Amino acid sequence: MDYRKKFLVEPGSKVHLGRLDPAYTGGHSSEDEARAAIDKDVERLCELQYRLYAEHARSLLIVLQAMDAGGKDGTIRHVFRAFNPQGASVHAFKEPTPLEAAHDFLWRAHNVAPPHGQVAIFNRSHYEDVLVVRVHELVPKHVWSKRYDRIVEFEKNLSQAGTHVIKFFLHVSKEEQLRRLEARLDDPARHWKIDELDFAERERWHEYEKAYEDALERTSTERAPWYVIPADHKWFRNLAVAHIAVQTLSELKMQFPKPKVDVAEIRQKYHLES
Ligand code: ATP
Ligand code: MG
Repeated sequence: MDYRKKFLVEPGSKVHLGRLDPAYTGGHSSEDEARAAIDKDVERLCELQYRLYAEHARSLLIVLQAMDAGGKDGTIRHVFRAFNPQGASVHAFKEPTPLEAAHDFLWRAHNVAPPHGQVAIFNRSHYEDVLVVRVHELVPKHVWSKRYDRIVEFEKNLSQAGTHVIKFFLHVSKEEQLRRLEARLDDPARHWKIDELDFAERERWHEYEKAYEDALERTSTERAPWYVIPADHKWFRNLAVAHIAVQTLSELKMQFPKPKVDVAEIRQKYHLES
């Protein structure tokens, strides 16, 4: 199954999240059965990142967005563990600090965009500025509504500088979100993760859904596509994200740089067996 095609938000198309099944698992029946495919893709991701690092000519930006408890952290832990920390970084986008708030909304994103050879993962991102900011009316509509075009331009600019951008919206159902939030209440080791706001925000579910739909529709481009990943089943979410990341990176056809030395000459000079 080509999950890249299946979950892509076609540029210019409409998005109706209510019509996309968050519990979809493709042809797979269980986590056990999917394990081998996930492991294979995670291993492949590791090799591809090695090439990206060696080539040092392009970079990869992965944007992760989701409702609370949507699985951003789990995706990083299970899929992007593939990356060598030397060539990768994760950036969490929280409420802007005073310094961040004193700049334009893209400043903090641009500041941590990946340089050549590197992968950056955004755990939340510049999209918060058309999501939480819109839902809570933190700025007036005439301000946030202009941001979609700014985001498209920003990502185009990154892309022209060699940064490949892929964006995942981890799509969970309201019921699954509640199960996950409740599981936190039941587990003392996860009490520290509980944020009362996560429960309160559920009342704005539909407003968030609308804000997500608009963001997905208005900013999915050929250069920086959005994928809506069914995320009620954590294992399927991992499988789909890993698959799409592998497909994307393989297409970049990264090359190792030309050796700086003549290998045969070195062998001869230092009397080394081949
Ligand atoms: P987790 O809860 O899994 O640890 P999280 O991403 O929800 O991860 P929190 O520290 O709970 O992290 O929340 C960060 C909060 O900051 C989110 O509610 C997010 O919407 C908010 N936020 C991010 N960017 C902005 C922004 N530009 N303006 C206002 N709020 C923002
Ligand atoms: Mg949170």
